[in-house]
Amino acid sequence: MNRAMNKPRILIVEDEPSIAELIAVNLRHSGYEPGGAQDGQAAQREIDAQRPDLIVLDWMLPGQSGLALTRQWRKNARTHAVPIVMLTARGAEPDKIAGLDAGADDYISKPFSTQEMLARIRAVLRRRAPETVDAQIEIGALVLDTATYRVTWQGTPLKLGPTEFKLLAYLMRYPERVHSRAQLLDKVWGDQVYIEDRTVDVYIKRLRESLGPASSMLETVRGVGYRVTAQMVAT
Ligand code: CA
Repeated sequence: MNRAMNKPRILIVEDEPSIAELIAVNLRHSGYEPGGAQDGQAAQREIDAQRPDLIVLDWMLPGQSGLALTRQWRKNARTHAVPIVMLTARGAEPDKIAGLDAGADDYISKPFSTQEMLARIRAVLRRRAPETVDAQIEIGALVLDTATYRVTWQGTPLKLGPTEFKLLAYLMRYPERVHSRAQLLDKVWGDQVYIEDRTVDVYIKRLRESLGPASSMLETVRGVGYRVTAQMVAT
């Protein structure tokens, strides 16, 4: 159920097996969890099963083109925010513009170097989904490290369960902002989990207990949701 320990999932939509495999191997080596699909229909099945953190999408596919798929996924509520990196043999400027206009986040022309591909994927994730790449978040004396899964308060380690960790990581990523229970369910538990809003309250309570003296940074905004604030509040 918890996805905190999981690596960023990248769906590779590419009908040429040798290229798909080359990309998958490099992504796996770099700490991602690659998935594969050979056409738009197979890609849609993968997305329906589990929404990826990013899609590497070939332009020339059997059936629907990568361009048509980009337009389709951008219109869909489930996929509109998923970053897309387009991959194609076409180097022509109008095609790049068409891809970007359709909603792709970046564009890689074949043949490409795997280092360039990885750098572009990192850059897109950093811009569009910072929670998948940033290692350390600091708010006041509270420090959370997603690489080592450690949280410290004034240098002292705090003990958090995996779900509390991911919940705190999300709240710290967007400090001062108030998040509703529904938003937290979607962002922290993932869109495939059907649980009640009340579950959020249960984990917030556990998180407060784990935070101890730092728990006053975790604020309940009545009737709205929760936020992490740098201002210490009276609770
Ligand atoms: Ca192709």
